[in-house]
Amino acid sequence: MIFNPPRIKGERINPRMCTLDHLYDKWDPLRYTNKGELTLVAACTKCNTERSVINQNNQSKETLWMLSGRYPKGM
Ligand SMILES: [Zn+2]
Repeated sequence: MIFNPPRIKGERINPRMCTLDHLYDKWDPLRYTNKGELTLVAACTKCNTERSVINQNNQSKETLWMLSGRYPKGM
């Protein structure tokens, strides 16, 4: 993994840059019930982003609509 200094605006993110990822994503109720537990893990940017996209795509259109306040495409 690569540890980068803060990005310059417009610079591409190195996909191997280290990020802090949540053990439980924001869709997982465990994230909100385990107060005080250390739930941050290191993950590269590529894995962190891919995991978040997959988890978001697994949500219902109604959930995404409710959270975004925008009418979802394809409904
Ligand atoms: Zn990775």
